[in-house]
Amino acid sequence: MQAMVLNEIKTPLQWTELPDRQPGPGQIRVQVTACGVCRTDLHVIDGELPNPVVPIIPGHEIVGRIDAIGPGVQGLIMGERVGIPWLGHTCGVCPYCRMHRENLCDHPVFTGFTCDGGFATATIADARFAFPLGEVGDDVSLAPLLCAGLIGWRALVIAGEGRKLGLYGFGAAAHIVAQVAKWQGRSVFGFTRPGDLATQAFARSLGVAWAGGSDEMPPEQLDAAIIFATVGDLVPLALRAVRKGGRVVCAGIHMSDIPSFPYRLLWEERQLLSVANLTRQDGIDFLRQVPTMGVVTHTKKYPLRKANEALADLRAGRFDGAAVLVP
Ligand SMILES: [Zn+2]
Ligand SMILES: [Zn+2]
Repeated sequence: MQAMVLNEIKTPLQWTELPDRQPGPGQIRVQVTACGVCRTDLHVIDGELPNPVVPIIPGHEIVGRIDAIGPGVQGLIMGERVGIPWLGHTCGVCPYCRMHRENLCDHPVFTGFTCDGGFATATIADARFAFPLGEVGDDVSLAPLLCAGLIGWRALVIAGEGRKLGLYGFGAAAHIVAQVAKWQGRSVFGFTRPGDLATQAFARSLGVAWAGGSDEMPPEQLDAAIIFATVGDLVPLALRAVRKGGRVVCAGIHMSDIPSFPYRLLWEERQLLSVANLTRQDGIDFLRQVPTMGVVTHTKKYPLRKANEALADLRAGRFDGAAVLVP
């Protein structure tokens, strides 16, 4: 197999020839056909997440087909198309696993962070954490759903039922969540970097009610806002834009420091929450509804060997939607 490997934090990934791996008990081997590039991959490469492991193969929005099955795997067959998300394994016995909050597991394994991921021609996964994807939709279009879609979905559920929803940072996740929220009958307000007219136009093309810079106030008070950008300064801005009792959900795994702000922005029962990881149930709930929601992902394809280029383009905001690597 071949892979783009992170050998040292803050260095480019290296194209590497590796011996083929065999799935152990409970595991499957998947021939990767597409793997999305997520902002979390940048945090992994930059060493911004605690206890980094190197060398590691990043990538946690994996679509592929099973070509080897380890002992004890149930419910999956050879050749089946599956998706492999960020949550790679949980312990099953800690208090969080027992209270159906496995996204907060005390001893988790994360794909492309603490176990090898999908910037490769093949990968090994815990079969219980892989999602059968069926045969509807092409591999590249489905890849961004495995993290941008899933985490976006979890953030949307946590944001509550409010009809007027703000999305701060209009990248891969927001472009999916905007479509889901619209399908649910909500009005979406898209916030981009100030002056980023191209992304604002992209947001409008997806049917948002309004698009503008994150330094602007929306034309109406919001019921809730989700912050996908990694910029802590957005927290007080979003709190200012939501109504009394409204919610602000931080969906990123990493954020720059939140500046101090007047208590009155939080007062009147506004809530500030974060979203961490996903549960398998999130994946089942979301992926089951995707065909009826009519979500169309906007993707930019890169050959696997050009992973560093895709990451640099993501960092610089050089494309709309999501980048996807294809072996
Ligand atoms: Zn656990
Ligand atoms: Zn991700």
